[in-house]
Amino acid sequence: MTMTDQLHTPILVLADHQHYNDEDTWHLTTTSAQVISLARTLTNAGVHVLALTRTPDTPALAALGVEKVLCPVFDDLAPRVSALVADAALAAVTSQHYGAFLLPSSYRGREVAARVAMRLNCGVLADANALTVKGQALIATSVALAGTWTNRIRITGTLPIATVKTGACAIIPASEPSVPQIEELSFEKSPQASAIEVLSSHVENGTGRVRLADAEIVVVAGRGTNADMSVVEALADELGAAVGVTRVVADEGWAPRNVQIGQTGVNVSPKLYIGLGVSGAIHHTVGMQSSEHIVAVCDDPDAPIFEIADFGVVGDLFEVAPKALEAIRAARTRRGEN
Ligand SMILES: Cc1cc2nc3c(=O)[nH]c(=O)nc-3n(C[C@H](O)[C@H](O)[C@H](O)COP(=O)(O)OP(=O)(O)OC[C@H]3O[C@@H](n4cnc5c(N)ncnc54)[C@H](O)[C@@H]3O)c2cc1C
Repeated sequence: MTMTDQLHTPILVLADHQHYNDEDTWHLTTTSAQVISLARTLTNAGVHVLALTRTPDTPALAALGVEKVLCPVFDDLAPRVSALVADAALAAVTSQHYGAFLLPSSYRGREVAARVAMRLNCGVLADANALTVKGQALIATSVALAGTWTNRIRITGTLPIATVKTGACAIIPASEPSVPQIEELSFEKSPQASAIEVLSSHVENGTGRVRLADAEIVVVAGRGTNADMSVVEALADELGAAVGVTRVVADEGWAPRNVQIGQTGVNVSPKLYIGLGVSGAIHHTVGMQSSEHIVAVCDDPDAPIFEIADFGVVGDLFEVAPKALEAIRAARTRRGEN
């Protein structure tokens, strides 16, 4: 990318943070790190971050070359109210001139993007798979109708806004880490935000496993598991992986809906995806095809998952997965890891 293909104004990124297990520290999420990396390729004027925590992950933000971090003054449950986050974002984007505002493509990211665009009367695109700059305009690529159409869209207006899908960009550390300037951001609460109050909040998927969208390894259960998730969970726990499922598995109630991967579920882009009894229907693969390595175990040699798999085993998952687990444990013991 040449200098003419970059904005000459800073980009603001809304960055999500999360806790791991019981620790108190907030970590930058993988998707947010990807969006920040993408933003850096689009501007020569620096990336600023709107962090929804009072204790942002400064080391991670510094490694990504972030220049400024804006921390809205609100309590820990407040980020669950999209209207309130939109109020904070509005204060941030009006505090100085930004060339674009990028957000992770989550339910909240999409809602905040839409609310800010409505208030500023500017262009917004949800679920960009790629972003480039042409002249000083933001060009987004988005995939529609289960991956059968690809659209290129120019986003204009006073502040082009886009939500970016997981895996749209790799995490690219800056050549020189930055020393981010941390600033408190005060803002006014709108009537829409005041009308919503979070009464309580608890983790639904309290498995202690890493969050699906941020996992480096994901083990996925398909219909072939026939409701027996034990082998999937054992492999996931051995590998420190997250568990994902196809829609059939969620529809059958064998696993919660929030771990469904695909068009109507979560998008994942892990280093390793392992599908057990997954056929590879397009509605599923649009949500995982950007995984770095894809391994599939399926008893149907004609299953479409094998067209995108780097390593495929035609066989019964209840025979193959326990053998894989045994081999992994044996290798770990040989290496003295257990
Ligand atoms: C609008 C729309 C949106 C959708 N959104 C999503 C979505 O977000 N995510 C999603 O996943 N799907 C989605 N779907 C559904 C999707 O089209 C497929 O039906 C679904 O992905 C199939 O799930 P599966 O691979 O688990 O099941 P199947 O397609 O039935 O595949 C199961 C595979 O397991 C194999 N198998 C059976 N037993 C074993 C065994 N013991 N060992 C090894 N292999 C075995 C079978 O041969 C088969 O190949 C959507 C559909 C529509 C219409």
